[in-house]
Amino acid sequence: MKKNILIVPGDGIGQEVTEVGKKVLDKIAEKFGHEFTYDEALIGHVAIEATGNPLPDETLTKMKNSDAVLFGAVGHPKYDNDPSAKVRPEQGLLKMRKELGLYANLRPIKLFDELLDASSIKPEILKGADILFFRELTGDIYFGEKGRKDNGDSAYDVAAYSKFEVERIARKAFEAARTRGKKLCSVDKANVLETSRLWREVVQVVAKDYPDVEVEYQFVDAIAMLLIKDPKKFDVIVTANLFGDILTDEASQIAGSMGMLASASIGDGTGVYEPIHGSAHDITGKGVANPMASVLSAALLLDISFGLKEESNAVIAAVDAVLKAGFRTGDIADASTPKDKILGTAAIGEEILSRI
Ligand code: NAD
Repeated sequence: MKKNILIVPGDGIGQEVTEVGKKVLDKIAEKFGHEFTYDEALIGHVAIEATGNPLPDETLTKMKNSDAVLFGAVGHPKYDNDPSAKVRPEQGLLKMRKELGLYANLRPIKLFDELLDASSIKPEILKGADILFFRELTGDIYFGEKGRKDNGDSAYDVAAYSKFEVERIARKAFEAARTRGKKLCSVDKANVLETSRLWREVVQVVAKDYPDVEVEYQFVDAIAMLLIKDPKKFDVIVTANLFGDILTDEASQIAGSMGMLASASIGDGTGVYEPIHGSAHDITGKGVANPMASVLSAALLLDISFGLKEESNAVIAAVDAVLKAGFRTGDIADASTPKDKILGTAAIGEEILSRI
């Protein structure tokens, strides 16, 4: 298979982990006889520094013309500590999602057995948990009208959803549930919010087309508790942008660490694959970042954008084998991990590559 992949490392540890993700794609191409060609582009703080724009037109054009994008992270402390900054790295991310029509963010939450003790949740609660989140990505409070009034003394952000936006992600989630445990949980706050009442109404209509999928509805506050109390209860979860943003970070604890979680952003065009973590400037440049989320993002890319299931499974199996061999990065090591088994980004990347 011949494919063009755009590598967009972005900021901070995005640079370090995406390098490993790309090497994994290369190794897969070599082992399975595919031809992957690569280009690179800027986004986020590095793009602002180079061009003044967090998502330069050149990057967007390259994204639209590629078969898939392997993305790192955006963000820099300079902006985090300056709420008044007009040009910000995250604007690049939001614009990319909007321009590429990436309306569904898929986040598989599955714990590798070797990491049962790395989570702060009890192993017996976690073992066997396997959740696939569908977070809506282009609507909600993130994209509504926002501003200040009363001379800047009060602020507002408007949350908005259309039936069309809810229906297209609900269908994707139902389709996925059909290929898994046939259970879908739709999360909203329909007891308070009008957008949530519309959300639930639409999901109820779409559900009629999927009689083989068992549907339940949960309020966001209730599921925040249930995810920690009984994560095994859930199969596919579909929710709005803001609720999904928060719940998937919470659920990262089920997988042990942010450094383990991959995501896919899909829509009608090019898919974007990225770790759920940010640019982590506290560890940038130290060579200690866990590259597994990027590697697992590459696995999702192979599966979802290219339909290469066997290749994708080979990547996941290599990560599993590295964990079984006892190797860890600092974020997933515990007190019992021998010092010589704690590796940096590049070294653990080599261990993964050698097992593909
Ligand atoms: P973060 O995800 O960057 O880091 C949170 C914590 O987890 C940090 O202690 C970090 O060291 C650790 N961590 C994250 N990824 C890790 C990895 N691969 N290996 C080991 N440890 C890891 O979140 P934050 O600190 O809240 O944000 C930092 C910057 O990233 C901010 O500017 C924020 O806006 C941005 N951000 C970007 C994205 C994105 O690009 N999708 C997502 C979240 C945050």
